Amino acid sequence: AAKNSGRGTYRFYSVDLKDVEQERQELLDDIREALASDQLELHYQPVVRTKDNMVVGFEALMRWEHPERGNVSPGVFIPAAEESDLINQLGHFALQRACEDALQWPENVRIAINVSAKQFANKAFPETVAQILEDTGIEPDRVELELTETVFMGDTDVTDETFKALKTLGVRLALDDFGTGYSSLSYLRSAPFDKIKVDKSFVDTCTQKNENSAKIITAIIGLSKALGMDTTVEGVEAFDQFDLVTEKGAEYIQGWIYSKARPQADILKYIANGGFKIEPSGPENFRPERR
Ligand code: C2E
Ligand code: MG
Ligand code: MG
Ligand code: MG
Repeated sequence: AAKNSGRGTYRFYSVDLKDVEQERQELLDDIREALASDQLELHYQPVVRTKDNMVVGFEALMRWEHPERGNVSPGVFIPAAEESDLINQLGHFALQRACEDALQWPENVRIAINVSAKQFANKAFPETVAQILEDTGIEPDRVELELTETVFMGDTDVTDETFKALKTLGVRLALDDFGTGYSSLSYLRSAPFDKIKVDKSFVDTCTQKNENSAKIITAIIGLSKALGMDTTVEGVEAFDQFDLVTEKGAEYIQGWIYSKARPQADILKYIANGGFKIEPSGPENFRPERR
């Protein structure tokens, strides 16, 4: 198909490609609109200490309710935003809002915030974090930034500088989705992580026979302990998974077995009711059977 692009010239591309590009542009426009008109929200999923079922923190997960598209998954709009500069604005929103919301929780409860590799590669990133810490007045040690292995694909000098600057600020760093990327142990040798998050994909298959996932989970927990880091196992849904990963020494679990991510209003109600202990039973809309 040919399209008149003005100025008397023709641009050629397949109908399919045009649709994909057009759809991408529309999505980016909608994200821009979402930022401007308050359509974005953060929900919070508890991170629970398994030995006593105490909530030690929450991870902020972005939610978008679009007037026509309905609920759009962060798995869709975050990667789209990462291909444009919009990720910096989304990231700023998440940092700011999460720190503000966390100030209404008990002081020993941490807030974890996802940071995209592109946001991290921006030289101004540590300054942005410093500014938000100052504006909100939150204790830096309560703030945990979740990075994935993709941050190591960037300029090494910038990466090293950024790590140094963030540690100087006193925030905590977690290595998210561990084991799914270019997992290289050299990252753990040099980068100052406080926590490793074992990816859900290992949990999904850990109870299957003839699967290496359970052994890998055990090994990651051991490695993390040896390096003096915490470990959170992500995506635990069922009791057989829960029993297995706790038996393997998982100190912290984040998964539907405890709770899905909930809006701040629900977290505040929970606090008002004196809550900060959750039994592993799954949220109302997701109750696995204890076998
Ligand atoms: P992530 O950081 O690895 O977050 C964990 C994802 O696993 C979340 O999906 C969470 O809802 C889901 N999850 C947790 N426990 C369970 C479980 O037991 N079962 C199942 N099926 N899922 C579980 P979500 O909220 O859809 O987010 C997907 C990804 O989008 C996140 O993965 C993160 O990479 C990205 N993301 C979300 N919010 C933000 C944000 O504010 N900034 C950035 N840069 N990325 C974000
Ligand atoms: Mg995360
Ligand atoms: Mg993860
Ligand atoms: Mg992920």
